[in-house]
Amino acid sequence: MIRRTPPLEVMIVGAGITGLALGLVLHQKGVRVKVIDRQPLPEFVAPPEFDQRIYAMSLASEGFLRRAGGWQDMDRTRIQPILGMNVQGDRDGRLSLAPDGGQTSPMGWIVEAGTMLSALHRHQKRVAPELLETGVTVSAVHEKEGGLEVHLSHGQCWQTRLVVAADGLHSTLRERFGIPAYFSPYGHRAVVANYRIGGHHGGVARQWFVPGEVIALLPLPGQRVSLVWSAQSDHAQALLAMSPEQRAHALQQQVGYELGLLEEISVPADFELRRMNVARWIASRFALVGDAAHGVHPMAGQGLNLGLQDAACLADTLLERGPGPDCGDRSLLRRYERARREPVAVMQGLTGGLAHLFSASRSQWGWARNWGMNRLERCSWLKHELVRYANR
Ligand SMILES: Cc1cc2nc3c(=O)[nH]c(=O)nc-3n(C[C@H](O)[C@H](O)[C@H](O)COP(=O)(O)OP(=O)(O)OC[C@H]3O[C@@H](n4cnc5c(N)ncnc54)[C@H](O)[C@@H]3O)c2cc1C
Repeated sequence: MIRRTPPLEVMIVGAGITGLALGLVLHQKGVRVKVIDRQPLPEFVAPPEFDQRIYAMSLASEGFLRRAGGWQDMDRTRIQPILGMNVQGDRDGRLSLAPDGGQTSPMGWIVEAGTMLSALHRHQKRVAPELLETGVTVSAVHEKEGGLEVHLSHGQCWQTRLVVAADGLHSTLRERFGIPAYFSPYGHRAVVANYRIGGHHGGVARQWFVPGEVIALLPLPGQRVSLVWSAQSDHAQALLAMSPEQRAHALQQQVGYELGLLEEISVPADFELRRMNVARWIASRFALVGDAAHGVHPMAGQGLNLGLQDAACLADTLLERGPGPDCGDRSLLRRYERARREPVAVMQGLTGGLAHLFSASRSQWGWARNWGMNRLERCSWLKHELVRYANR
């Protein structure tokens, strides 16, 4: 039997960080909004040696998460300020970036995925217990005059002006609304794990371009770092098959002893890396946000940051619409799509281009990429612009 419910302005499908934060921001401004997820949000038990799934978050993302309310709820002892970035090429290329306001104002933050999602969830349960429903999916969507009728798997039916897909890279809702997605594998997998270090990281995020691969060691609180090794797929399998000591040794051979001896302190995990583009960001009374709208290489740590910027842009577009148009109005959605397409394409181009450049083995490319890095290192205004761009 179909159970009808009071009409919504926005229904968000997917309660990852992007979908839940968007729901909270809209709810606080009085928008009638509901967020659903196919699975219950897991209770996060903070591991003593930190979650191996971590994010480098920009200051702009921090701002949006503060608006949503989750940021203030996070355990401060599990957040690491980023106080600088060092990038090393595969020859003599070097690039270092520092915060705009000196060492006291971080360039961004390293945060565990579980810490952030559970802080948002705790906040939601406190301020908007009715906002989120888990364990349900969309079973059908029909156009009705002035809106959509969304049927859920447990038999409820909601009228809404707008449906937002925040259901991740393999969004089924995107497919349901007829938006094609184009996947292109980078031929890389990301191997992630945490390490205890013998020395001190000084809050600096370090990245090495080694032939055909990219290794990042991101600072965690205390004498710990988090590894993201974007390795060619067969090499990633070989790394995963090693013992923790062998893996630490293989890593140490690539990055040297700048951080002292490395000891693995978490179970490693791996992720397939793919670029994903969509033909359109919107359809009739429908919009994509987060990984449902784009897949980028993690070398710049921008996937979730882009998703939160999508959410901020969509929230502002809806909240500033004034009297007249409803939340699913075509011209509003077009404005949102126009605003987000370009910055996402730039980031995909930049990370994809770098991945390609550093996987090219021809010697003239090897010379060119390291030369380019050293030129950039000497150009302080351009470095300043890079830091500013990453934090927009
Ligand atoms: C190795 C690696 C390192 C990364 N590092 C960084 C980094 O440092 N900084 C950064 O910004 N980004 C980083 N990223 C990218 C980041 O992980 C993603 O961009 C981000 O998790 C996407 O969030 P999302 O909320 O859009 O989607 P997801 O986190 O995928 O959430 C989707 C939600 O939708 C739900 N769902 C799915 N299907 C349905 C359905 N049919 N019905 C209902 N619910 C559904 C899921 O249960 C889930 O809760 C990294 C990625 C990788 C692989």
